[in-house]
Amino acid sequence: MEERLDKDADKLFQKSEKKHMLNANQVQNAIGIKLDSLSKLLKLYPYDAHGQPGQMLKPVSEKDIEPVHVICPASMQCQTMSCNQRSIHMDTRDRDVPRVTFIKGTKIYDRVHVLSGKCTTCETKYYADHESSQHNGVQGGRT
Ligand SMILES: [Zn+2]
Repeated sequence: MEERLDKDADKLFQKSEKKHMLNANQVQNAIGIKLDSLSKLLKLYPYDAHGQPGQMLKPVSEKDIEPVHVICPASMQCQTMSCNQRSIHMDTRDRDVPRVTFIKGTKIYDRVHVLSGKCTTCETKYYADHESSQHNGVQGGRT
């Protein structure tokens, strides 16, 4: 398990646990305890508190674990020089956010949110595929 995790094994340890001070056996024990606790926390542990087999694990539904896709502007901060990386705010209320059908490879995702952003300072609007600035009546586009 530790080999499979490779460098990621370090991420299982807090700095205060001083992984580098532990010997191989202690590291293996610690990883085991962490994974055991995690499986209980995620309710993936098939035994009850008395060590008796409890509820069988349900098969994992692919639908339940698939990522939530969101189409959003590439930049998270305003790109106008004078705005100095000011954060972009959502331009639409949640109920007005368009929901679209998104096709990725051979999979179709329904009701994917398309978010657009707006800088409250320069009023530049940010979309996933272009930006538009209302300044001086110029409709700028950038892809
Ligand atoms: Zn701006």
